[in-house]
Amino acid sequence: MANDRLLKVAEQAATAVLQRHKVKEPPVDVEALAAAEGITVTYDALEESVSGLLVRDSSGNETAGINALHHPNRQRFTIAHEIGHHLLHPNRPEVVVDEMMFYFRGEPRDKGTPEYVREMQANAFAAALLMPKKFLLAEAARREFSALDEPAMRSLANRFGVSTQALNFRLQNLGMLQGM
Ligand SMILES: [Zn+2]
Repeated sequence: MANDRLLKVAEQAATAVLQRHKVKEPPVDVEALAAAEGITVTYDALEESVSGLLVRDSSGNETAGINALHHPNRQRFTIAHEIGHHLLHPNRPEVVVDEMMFYFRGEPRDKGTPEYVREMQANAFAAALLMPKKFLLAEAARREFSALDEPAMRSLANRFGVSTQALNFRLQNLGMLQGM
């Protein structure tokens, strides 16, 4: 599948999860969504470079281990990312270690491998789950923000429980930030 198609699938899967669990506004409770989708979330002190890992045992039960040492916003992104793997990548390995996640614009060395494609798609899913376009448009209708207005961006990021970097990237991808 071409990248555009993969990203569209991720976006649609995130929208479906939100609808399935009747999520109406931010911040999206990713922990509750993970539980509702059958994933047990645990918090463990992991190496700084590891965001989390997703483990599927022989009975098919899934556990997402999230790095307890990371910022809550990053933990939320990681949980959303693991839900993405859970829903989109049934044929992945039994253990996925999300090390130095291919965050945002980072250029990994092994671009084009199945693993890279899975990571990219899980990140797109996470962004769409935490920052649904519909919710962003609703916020945009009731408040002004621009990339250069730091307090406004921070306030919007807080509303969604994401970092300003993640918000910025998402808004750019959706074409909602002008003059960039
Ligand atoms: Zn991953």
